[in-house]
Amino acid sequence: MTIDYSLDYAQKLDNQDPLAPMRAHFGIPKQINGEDEYYFTGNSLGLQPKLAREYVIEMLDAWQQRGVKGHFEGDYPWLPYHEFLTEQSAELVGALPEEVVMMNSLTANLHLMMVSFYQPKGIRTKILIEEHAFPSDHYAVESQLKHHQQDAESNMLLWQPRADEELLNHADLYQILENHGDEIAMILLPGVQYYTGQVLDIKTITEKAQAKGIIVGFDLAHAAGNLVMELHNWQVDFACWCSYKYLNSGAGSVAGCFVHQKHVTDTSLNRFAGWWGHDKSSRFKMQNNFKAIPTAEGWQLSNPPVLSLAAIRGSLDTIKIAGGIKELRKKSLKLSQYMIDLINQELGNSIRIITPQPDNERGCQLSLMVSVNGLDGKTMFNNLEKNGVTTDWREPNVIRVAPVPLYNSYVDVYHFVRILKECLS
Ligand SMILES: *Cc1c(COP(=O)(O)O)cnc(C)c1O
Repeated sequence: MTIDYSLDYAQKLDNQDPLAPMRAHFGIPKQINGEDEYYFTGNSLGLQPKLAREYVIEMLDAWQQRGVKGHFEGDYPWLPYHEFLTEQSAELVGALPEEVVMMNSLTANLHLMMVSFYQPKGIRTKILIEEHAFPSDHYAVESQLKHHQQDAESNMLLWQPRADEELLNHADLYQILENHGDEIAMILLPGVQYYTGQVLDIKTITEKAQAKGIIVGFDLAHAAGNLVMELHNWQVDFACWCSYKYLNSGAGSVAGCFVHQKHVTDTSLNRFAGWWGHDKSSRFKMQNNFKAIPTAEGWQLSNPPVLSLAAIRGSLDTIKIAGGIKELRKKSLKLSQYMIDLINQELGNSIRIITPQPDNERGCQLSLMVSVNGLDGKTMFNNLEKNGVTTDWREPNVIRVAPVPLYNSYVDVYHFVRILKECLS
């Protein structure tokens, strides 16, 4: 089937798109000529929701006008401010409210979770990750092993793609679990692989690993706000994600953390504690006997940075206006399918999409490999930039493009393919 490669058709798709009005809820960066950029890096830094700006300014005003009383006064007092984010954040990842808290940063939360959930014992000392894990995840795991006086090299099991393949093969992972299951204490895998855009089967991985007595954690940096998930039903032990990618809450904004219901009341779990994780009714008695809140909040350390949380609240409310993550996912699949179809049809000889193409194996992001001999990919990427297209370049030859359902349009995608085609010829 051929697809109509024209601006008219793209406009028609936008006119039929129930989420098209959401774009007006965002600030879109401009090109030098004053037109909107074709922004495809929502997988790296999501654009600014107007509500995020509004809520942050409200917080600045409250601080200016109320000083310390802002902790207790106003519609959104600071003391319980993180609680205003819980319900919507839980919904986003398919969790119960008691299982979710917004706190710290992603890598900090990974460490806190591993302090509680990586407990090497007997021959069960290993941690399994993927070979191309995001460096921060790799470093965090390696340093946790060292922290437990475990030899890092022999205790890090790496799940890697087969020779000459880019994607991870689930059968290989299941084989590792079969062969080495009783030596593995914990696995930490991404929901969506950041480089290839491959979606991992969180449910089945969790099931198979837990059947071998392994604790299962997920890094959802590229999955939160992108996929529909059911962390609670899938029995995932813990998960962490950042809020500045598909969750549009601003660079370095506060991260999310999930601890399954079956663990939140377990006070025997080792943890690095702080006063914000202590029982709320006695927190301000300022005594020294730590009593963990029996929810994910029990892992909090400090009183939360409200400017960042205000931006997250703006982002979550924006997603709510759009109808929630299921609506986003519906559009996302159509929008990226449109991009896949146009690329395969118009650029099939020079661009290879390394992201898997079935719906359940990809999120927003497509990773494109330039397969034209002698073409300097980096020059081409720079030409894209000159033409108002913002993507993300990874050496040696991959362009990551994320059409996101909240603010990208079918017309954006059309122009991306048109400009890419011009750059290639
Ligand atoms: C974006 C990303 C990070 C970044 O970690 P921060 O602690 O937020 O700086 C870590 N891991 C993965 C998989 C990511 O995609």
